[in-house]
Amino acid sequence: MVELTVVAAPMFAGKGEFIFRIIDQAKRAHQKILVFAPRTDTRVKARKEKGYITTRSGLNGKDKYRKYPAWRVTTLEEMIKLMQSDFFDVIIVDEGQFFKIKVLTKFAEGLLYHTNGFENVSYNIDLKIYIAGLDMDYAKNPFEVMSYLLAICDKPVKLSAICVKCRRPNVRAVLTQRISGGKDRIQVGDDEYEVRCRECHYIYK
Ligand SMILES: [Zn+2]
Repeated sequence: MVELTVVAAPMFAGKGEFIFRIIDQAKRAHQKILVFAPRTDTRVKARKEKGYITTRSGLNGKDKYRKYPAWRVTTLEEMIKLMQSDFFDVIIVDEGQFFKIKVLTKFAEGLLYHTNGFENVSYNIDLKIYIAGLDMDYAKNPFEVMSYLLAICDKPVKLSAICVKCRRPNVRAVLTQRISGGKDRIQVGDDEYEVRCRECHYIYK
C-alpha cells in the first residue's frame, strides 16, 4: 500500500538529515527515487529545472554540502509527467510549505487514492512518499498545505531542536525565529532565522 509520511519541523531541526537518511536507505536497496523541490526555493542551486536538494549537516572538512538531484516544479502536471518517466519506489518532496495547497494535496491524494491523473501512472504498489516542510511560519501560523497533509498522512513526524537562546536541554524548540529581514511570510534564507522554544520566541516586527 502507498504510504505517506509528512516530516514537519521548524528550521534547523534536521529535516535534511531525515531526507538524506531515506535517500541512503533507498539507494542501498537499489530503489528508484524521485525528488521534487518547489521552483520558488532559490536555495535549490540551479537555474535549470534540474537542481539539487542540499543539507549542511553531517559534514566536515572541505565539503560544505551534501546534495542530491531534485526536480524543481510548480504544477501537478509537471509532477505527473516526471513520474511517468520511470517506475519509482520512493518519492520525496522537500520544502512542502512553498507549494500551492491545491497542487501538493492533489499530488498526495492522487498517489494515495490513484486519482487526480495518477490513474495512468505506474509506480510501486508500496510506494513511499515523504513530504518535508516547515509546519509554521515565523509568526507561528501554520502553513495550510502542511496542516492538510499532516491530517491525511499515514505517519506524521514532528522534528524539534534545542533552543539556541535558552539552550535548555529538555525543552523542545519547535518555532522558527526570524531575526532580520522584512515581514513577508516567505523569505528564503538561512541567516535570517534561528530555532527557538515557545518562551524565547517572539514575532519579528
Ligand atoms: Zn528557549
